[in-house]
Formats: sequence, structure tokens, C-alpha cells
Amino acid sequence: TLSDRLTSVLTNLRGKGRLSDADIDATAREIRIALLEADVALPVVRSFIKGVKERAKGAEVSQALNPAQQVIKIVNEELVTVLGGETRRLEFAKTPPTVIMLAGLQGAGKTTLAGKLAKWLSGQGHTPLLVACDLQRPNAVNQLQVVGERAGVPVYAPQPGNGVGDPVEVARNSIEEARRAQHDVVLVDTAGRLGVDEEMMKQAADIRDAITPDEVLFVLDAMIGQDAVNTAEAFRDGVGFSGVVLTKLDGDARGGAALSVREITGQPIMFASSGEKLEDFDLFHPDRMANRILGMGDMLTLIEQAEQAFDQEQAEKAAEKLGSGQLTLEDFLEQMQAVRRMGPLQNLLGMLPGAGQMKDQLANFDEKHLDRIQAIIRGMTPAERADPKIINASRRQRIARGSGVTVSDINDLVNRFFEARKMMQQMAGGFGFGGGGGGSK
Ligand code: GDP
Ligand code: MG
Repeated sequence: TLSDRLTSVLTNLRGKGRLSDADIDATAREIRIALLEADVALPVVRSFIKGVKERAKGAEVSQALNPAQQVIKIVNEELVTVLGGETRRLEFAKTPPTVIMLAGLQGAGKTTLAGKLAKWLSGQGHTPLLVACDLQRPNAVNQLQVVGERAGVPVYAPQPGNGVGDPVEVARNSIEEARRAQHDVVLVDTAGRLGVDEEMMKQAADIRDAITPDEVLFVLDAMIGQDAVNTAEAFRDGVGFSGVVLTKLDGDARGGAALSVREITGQPIMFASSGEKLEDFDLFHPDRMANRILGMGDMLTLIEQAEQAFDQEQAEKAAEKLGSGQLTLEDFLEQMQAVRRMGPLQNLLGMLPGAGQMKDQLANFDEKHLDRIQAIIRGMTPAERADPKIINASRRQRIARGSGVTVSDINDLVNRFFEARKMMQQMAGGFGFGGGGGGSK
């Protein structure tokens, strides 16, 4: 798997200043192989890796992750984005019935999917009608009838008078029937050939023209591998489709077809089918697919843990600083920003036990006050933040001008900071943790 192969790249470079081009290239090389092994089409691999490299080169350096881990994280995020795009739901027609047409190669899983989708839609309160328009294979109509029975959904099949032998005629008539019997969704199963061929495409296009579907779902066997691209292109050009369904995800395919079809056709993957039973069906989940393509669930868990551990490390360092009297205005600013990222302070305080009695004071609390403090600290040089003692009168004047406050505001902040630092130091000492005494003011 990719994680095995990456161990050679995962030399522990933690703490190194930034992602070097060499680190990125080495990791990208391994990911490229993983994508190809997962049957992602070569042009898609190329453009994907290019995008990832660009993002990695501009990325902020993470202290928590080594460069290889960081590139993997970016790859994973990009993959999820590309696979997911905007997750699209089925589009229902304003005036029923909503017409959904299924297209794809023979054996892709259209008929099975028709049953799954019908059951799923019924479960959501719809009243679908299945339509048998595969008149190529002798057994196909019967297969849909069996599926329909299991799903508890009626099947419109060709019979004398409604267009026997002509799938276009059957499709057209089925819409009338749906209106008459008040089915709000029509699911049209169509024929497929083993390979892409013109006659089949024409038939599918004719059916499409006869029923002007609200959705054409392209059903793609995930096991098809590198052929996914050709097939998808042929159906895009021959029939056109508005969404993709991946089937046979219970097989051992690595799922590269998903990325290829999404990238090449630009159409969203909407559903995933993962077995022969009607229940083996779900909305498509980009994160699961990304995981499958890269084969790195464990690695991603590790990365997450490393990030969390690092947060904790930072928190501990901050606590240590508090106790040892080494707290700087820079730390103070960081902590303040971290807290404020969680939301307005009023809400945070409101969640504390006993906050009910503080309600009035909370209501008067002005976030602008915090903005002002942040502005003042930002107006200081790094040296001043690290050692506020050096902030003399002329520095105070400069900072005041720079951050649009008065000198007395600055005095106020600096004095309070020293007081707070002293108090924390005493508290830490009193509780018996933190560095050993030694006042610093
Ligand atoms: P169609 O020719 O496109 O209508 O394909 P079918 O629905 O007849 O499916 C072809 C074969 O694939 C059948 O044996 C199905 O049981 C099987 N099949 C369909 N979907 C899945 C799936 O998600 N997983 C597995 N394992 N088999 C499937
Ligand atoms: Mg079929």
C-alpha cells in the first residue's frame, strides 16, 4: 500500500523549516504510483499531482507533521474535494413525474440499481414506477420484474399495445402511464452492450429524446479500471449524463475509476452501489473513496493524532510558560486569538456553569475591547511583545499612533499584563507546578 511505500520517504524531518521541493517531489512520486495502481487515468493523475504540488509548495509549514505527512494531508484533502465537488442531490421536476434514465454498459449494474433506487425513493415517500426498456436481452424484462417485486415497486413492461419490441415507444408510453397512475418518479432501465457501440448509443439517445429525462445517470462498474475513461467519454458524447453512479464497490477495485470519471466528465458521482442486495446502496461519500484510492486510512489517523498531540504539546508549553513567568505578549495574543476563534466570547462565557447570574454583565460585554487589545499588541515589534519591559515612553507613543489608541490605553494594557503574569506565577507556584519561582518583572 501507499503507506508501506512511503515509509522510505517518511524519514523524520519534523521540525525542519519548510517543505523542500525535494520532499514534495519524493512524496508526489509515491502518490503518483498509488494513483496509477488504483487505476486512475494517466492524464488525471498528472493534472492532480500538479495541483497538489502547487498547493504543497505554497503551504504553510506545519510543526506537527513531517513533510511527507503534510503532503499526504494535502493530497487527501484535494482528493476529497475533487471527488466531492458540490455533492448534488437528485433534481426533481416541478411538475411530476420526475424522469430518471439509467445508461451504461451491459453488466454495469443498471437493472440492480434501478431496484435499489426505487426502494430508496419509496422509503422517502416517493411513488416510483420502474420501466423496462432493455429489450435486447431475452431475460432483461423479467429480471427487472423480479427486482421490482423485491423492491415493492410496480414495473411497466412492454406488452401488446404499448410498443412491444420498441424501447423508445415503451419509454414514451410509460410517462403517460405514470401520469395516469400518479407515480411521481419514473425510473427507466435501458439496454447496454458489452462494449461501446453506435447502435446502442443511438437507441439510448432516442429514448432520451422521447422522454426528456430530468436526470440521466451514468452507471459505471468501479471494477472497470482504466476503461472507465473511454466508456464515460463515449456516454458523455453519445447520450450525455447529469450524474454518475458507481457500482460493485464491494469488489477489490481501488476506485480510481471514480476520480477519472469525475475529473474527465465534470459530472458529480451521486450514488454508490456495493453489493447485489437492494440494501447495498448509499449516497456517494468522497472521503471514503479518497481513503480507498490512497489506501491510507491508518496513515490519515496517524496524521490526525500527530496534529492533536501537537496542539496538546503547545498547550503544555503555554502552561509551563505561565508558571515560570515567561509569558510574553505574543503568547497572550496567540491565546486570545485561539479563544476567539471558538466564537464570540459572550457565547463562550454563557456556556459556563453559573453564567445565568452574569447575564447582564455579559450583555454589556463589548468585543470591541478585545479588538483594541489585539490591535495594540499587533502594533508592537516582536522584541516588544517578547519583552514588554522595553516598552518605554517613546515606544508607547509610536504604538499608540500605529494602532489608533491613546498612550493611556497602552499603559493600561501593559500594566495589566504584568499584573496578570505575576498573579499566574503565584498561582502556579501555590499549586506546586510550573518552573521554580524567580520573579521576572
Ligand atoms: P445491467 O446489465 O447494467 O443491468 O447490470 P445488472 O444489474 O444486471 O448487473 C450485472 C451483474 O452485476 C448482476 O449479477 C448483479 O447482481 C451484479 N451487481 C450489480 N451491482 C452490483 C454491486 O454493487 N456489487 C456486486 N457485487 N454485484 C453487483
Ligand atoms: Mg440490465
